[in-house]
Amino acid sequence: MDVILFGPPGAGKGTQAKRLISQLSVPQISTGDMMRAERASGTDLGKRFESFMSAGKLVPDALVLELVEQRLKAEDAEAGAIFDGYPRTIPQAEALDSMLDRLERKIDVVVSMEISLAEQIDRITGRRTCVGCGHIYHVRYSPPPSEGRCANCGGELSQRKDDLEEVVRKRHEEYLANTAPLLGYYGAKGLVVTVNAVGSLDDVTARIRDAVAR
Ligand SMILES: [Zn+2]
Repeated sequence: MDVILFGPPGAGKGTQAKRLISQLSVPQISTGDMMRAERASGTDLGKRFESFMSAGKLVPDALVLELVEQRLKAEDAEAGAIFDGYPRTIPQAEALDSMLDRLERKIDVVVSMEISLAEQIDRITGRRTCVGCGHIYHVRYSPPPSEGRCANCGGELSQRKDDLEEVVRKRHEEYLANTAPLLGYYGAKGLVVTVNAVGSLDDVTARIRDAVAR
């Protein structure tokens, strides 16, 4: 079963995808994580990403699609995958559809995780990231045991620039302009199921599981 977790920044797509991989026994397709891994291990594809990223350019859609195709062909993804944060635009979705068609599979369901802008801002601006190990805390929802220090590695906690309110608002505008139209694209195919993304992690996971089981 190929599932897209869809929603604005701060909806919890990545967090929920990680919880669902064990429950659904399929891997997570996070193009950001996968690109970082390819670069770090210096594969051919990684070197091609590197040439764009080091020049401060966007990696072309076709190259990202190649990475996704390669991942979907791996044995553990035969039964399906959870897409998190991809596709982000209509052209990406169209290209993904034709690639899936070639592999004789298709997107089965798009879970639209709904959350208000106020809630997004609250979640994202409260994040504090460990500079040592990358672990993410939240000042209210998952505070570190000792203030300003990571419980895993003792590293210093800082607020990423991406998590400042003005940046969150800008990302939301971009989401509305480029990504939100995907709901119409997948909605026309009858694939969209809406879930309330506000609540405890367990509650939201259960709602997504119900949505996927429909
Ligand atoms: Zn740490």
